[in-house]
Amino acid sequence: MSQGLVKKIIVIDQNLCLNCQTCTLLDPETFHQDPKTQKVEIKKQPESFEKIKEDTKIAIESCPQKAIKINNS
Ligand code: SF4
Repeated sequence: MSQGLVKKIIVIDQNLCLNCQTCTLLDPETFHQDPKTQKVEIKKQPESFEKIKEDTKIAIESCPQKAIKINNS
């Protein structure tokens, strides 16, 4: 599967995100701030729903805006 077809298991609702950097600090492997747009985005998607790391789950739970969603459909 090419990078372009990687399933978006984790998504950030940009309308809710406050750019607080909590997720990027807790799980910098998964979340990063795009230097151009300054928006926090997904750097690396988990391979599957089952492979979501503990750090990622903690970051998702810690988001003050509940802006990070898991797409398990
Ligand atoms: S923790 Fe939530 S509000 Fe803060 S930067 Fe990450 S997605 Fe945005």
